[in-house]
Amino acid sequence: MQLTETVKNLESFRLSNLLFLLGLLLFSCKTESDKNPTLTESIKVSVQDPHSYSNIREIHTKHLSLELEVNFDNKTLYGVARHRMSESKAKTAIFDIHGETIQKVTIGKKGTEREADFVIGKMDADSILGQPLVVTIPSGTEYINIYYQTSDRCDALEWIEAENTASGKFPYLYSQGQAILTRTWIPLQDSPSNRLTYDATLHVPKGMMALMSAENPKKKSTDGTYHFEMKLPIPSYLIALTVGDIGYRALDKRCGVYAEAPMLERAATEFQDLPQMINAAESLYGPYAWGQYDVIVQHQSFPFGGMENPMLTFINPSIVAGDRSLVSVIAHELAHSWSGNLVTNESWNDFWLNEGFTVYIEHRIMEELYGKELSNTLCEIEHFELIEELKSIASSSHPEDSRLYLSLKGRNPDDGMTSVAYVKGAYFLKTLEATVGRKKMDAFVKAYFEEYKFKTIRTELFHTFLNKNLLYPNNIEFNTDEWFYLEGLPMNSLTIKSKRLELMRSYAKRTNRGEDIFAPVKKVRWVKVKGKKKKRKETYTEQLNTKAFITQEWQTYLRSLSLSIDTAKLDQMDRYTKFSEANNELKFEWFLLNIRKENRSIRPKLKVFLIETGRRKYILPLYRALAVYPTDKEWARSVFKEAQGGYHSVSRNSISEVFK
Ligand SMILES: [Zn+2]
Repeated sequence: MQLTETVKNLESFRLSNLLFLLGLLLFSCKTESDKNPTLTESIKVSVQDPHSYSNIREIHTKHLSLELEVNFDNKTLYGVARHRMSESKAKTAIFDIHGETIQKVTIGKKGTEREADFVIGKMDADSILGQPLVVTIPSGTEYINIYYQTSDRCDALEWIEAENTASGKFPYLYSQGQAILTRTWIPLQDSPSNRLTYDATLHVPKGMMALMSAENPKKKSTDGTYHFEMKLPIPSYLIALTVGDIGYRALDKRCGVYAEAPMLERAATEFQDLPQMINAAESLYGPYAWGQYDVIVQHQSFPFGGMENPMLTFINPSIVAGDRSLVSVIAHELAHSWSGNLVTNESWNDFWLNEGFTVYIEHRIMEELYGKELSNTLCEIEHFELIEELKSIASSSHPEDSRLYLSLKGRNPDDGMTSVAYVKGAYFLKTLEATVGRKKMDAFVKAYFEEYKFKTIRTELFHTFLNKNLLYPNNIEFNTDEWFYLEGLPMNSLTIKSKRLELMRSYAKRTNRGEDIFAPVKKVRWVKVKGKKKKRKETYTEQLNTKAFITQEWQTYLRSLSLSIDTAKLDQMDRYTKFSEANNELKFEWFLLNIRKENRSIRPKLKVFLIETGRRKYILPLYRALAVYPTDKEWARSVFKEAQGGYHSVSRNSISEVFK
């Protein structure tokens, strides 16, 4: 029943999208009449992905060639996007744009081009989708070339001044395409339901290195020109770019680390288990398909923990914690080489198929390398976060967001990026595994990747594949519908407990009772005196070794502390534990607890944290927590004003909502 309802919703959105498109106020430099019956007809049949205007069912890009000049003075990309199209009788090709200035559109192979008519539709009211670029083409057109430049409304690109980079010598640039931001720097059909290969020639200032989600250089070029090729078909959100004063360190023949010089050695040490992670993933799910696997440590403003751009994962510098305690993020991004990059969600409503599988595989890789107990620890931590998020979704204006299959009609697809897709998705697979047994589950997941590699998949299709290949042959009844199409977490969801975390909760209980578990305690013991029968009394100091616990254990300790705890005690605790100076994961937990306690002594350190990190996972909840108290809200607003220039638009836009 829920399925039918959701599908209906999707259809009605397509219809409303269609009506909207039919009502477009078109403007153009080379005008095609808005009464043109061919144009409106082609728009009518094309609307499919609720987050793209493109008519990929009729005609779609098979290969994209980019020729771009990266200009740091103007913070602009200038160039041309050459699209080689599928064979089609279509009379129009529709692309997504968002903020670019389109100079001209031509058709034909390079050197034999002639100008084509095009129109640009009106921006949607919320400026989420951008605008359709509708090009009139003769039937059978093979090449469409769009000459353009980016503008200051380009949300994907983050331009960083030299003085705000790690090396301080050169400026820096990176892109973030997911979910629908690639259209802000490349005019293209920006739907995950289409796959394309690409090549690119980039001209950057001399002395800088350019990298893309493609085959990459290991050294800087002498003239600032770089050529890239991605020979395997990928969805548009995975086209990525970064330019800076970057160096490379190989970890083995097929993987390595890129970073700005001051970070390079630290990152290589932090990620030294990467070759083993790739081996572990291959032994579970078959060969790694992409050849090279490299990681680039991004600028501190990078809004996510990591982004799985193929061949070149972007990673947040906060993951380089110094103790390898956060490397599960690397395992996660690597897992995307199968789930997401090889088999891709067809629309953002099916986002859980990318992320649920990825969290599931991430835990399996962590288990292979570091054992079941650590993987259980990660599971329990994430489960806690899921339960918290489910509570907040249930009381929000969109309680339906706790379904795995989403209905994001008319909304920003980023709204679907919650723990539901990630953790509820992973718990669905873990519960399924517990029901069918690991051996059958592994064979099934491997077969799924084999069947759908380099294709896109939607929930309904996955459901059919699951029934046919796992549930029916083994006579297993499973509440799949409930997991996919109903809100909340089903009753049969697996419970995973970590013994290590139980110990941390017992420490928290002692703290809550008023005991100071960190203070040194003077104790007495009897020691033998050399050459004598008698023993001698000796006093010594005993103290909890805070270094003996990993980040996830301290997270649990902090989350288990009662809010009735005295703020003076928190300040005292920090003198022993140095939570306020620990890695970003712990700093975040520490600041959150102190904000909730209205402990304003943390403000100086909190301000530095909010200015120096741009990862949305940390800063958004901190701003939200501050906004609860009027005086803190005003203080937070002033910090945001100062810090926002250093945030990527993804973080900046989310935080702006807090202050509206
Ligand atoms: Zn992911």
